[in-house]
Amino acid sequence: MGIYARLAKLHPKQCCIVCAEPSHHVVCQSCEYEFGVQEHRCLSCALPLNQPLDYCGNCLRTSPSFHRAFTLYDYEGVVAYLIKKMKYEARLSVAQFFAEKMTKKIDEIQASGHHYDAIIPMPLHTKRLRERGYNQVVELLRDLNKKGAPDTMSVQRVKQTAPMTDLSLAQRKKEIKGAFSLAEPLAHKRILLVDDVMTSGSSLNELAKIILKQSPAVICCDVLTLSRAQLSESQT
Ligand SMILES: [Zn+2]
Ligand SMILES: [Zn+2]
Repeated sequence: MGIYARLAKLHPKQCCIVCAEPSHHVVCQSCEYEFGVQEHRCLSCALPLNQPLDYCGNCLRTSPSFHRAFTLYDYEGVVAYLIKKMKYEARLSVAQFFAEKMTKKIDEIQASGHHYDAIIPMPLHTKRLRERGYNQVVELLRDLNKKGAPDTMSVQRVKQTAPMTDLSLAQRKKEIKGAFSLAEPLAHKRILLVDDVMTSGSSLNELAKIILKQSPAVICCDVLTLSRAQLSESQT
C-alpha cells in the first residue's frame, strides 16, 4: 500500500452524516451498530416477533395480499433519521449506502430459494416525482442494474395520495384504494415489490392486490422493504 493510500485510510475525507466523526463511509461503523436489526419476524408482514411463532396475530386474522415480506431494519432511531435525509433532503449518498445493503439482502433472499422474474419498486405519482426529482426506491435498487434493471414501467401510481403519517389504518386503506394501475397484465411468474418503509402495509397490499387480480400469470408476489415501522396505538 502506497503512502497516499495509507494516509487516506488513516484520515478519511468525509464525516459520518449521523455523528459527524470522520468516517470512510457516509455512516460510520459505530452508528451502523445502532441500526435495529431483529432477525425473527412475521413471515407474512415482517413485524418483529417476540415469541417463536411464524405469523403475527394480525396476519393470522387477515393475511395480506402479498405472500412473504422481508425487511432489513426496524424504522426507528438512526435508520428513521437516515431515511428522512434520503427522502426529504435529497441525500443520495444515503441512498447509495442503503443500495449496497439492499442488493446484499436480495442476494440472500434469492440464495435461500426465492427467485424473482421481476423486481418492482413502489411507483411515485408523476407530480411527486417531478417535485422530488427522483424516486428514492429506484435509487435503493440502483446497484441491481448490474444484474438486470428493476421494472419501473409496468405499474403506475395514478392517484396522488395524501401523506399517510397521521392517518389511521382504516383511513390509509381508503386513501390508497385505486392508487395504482397496470399498463397491461404482468407476464412474470414471481415478483418482488420493493419499498423504503412499510408501516401499515396498505400501499404494498393495494399494489400486490391489483397485480394479482389483473395478472393471472403471477403466482407469487413478495415484498421487501428497507425498514419496518409500526403504527402507533392511536392509529390502529
Ligand atoms: Zn457516526
Ligand atoms: Zn404479520
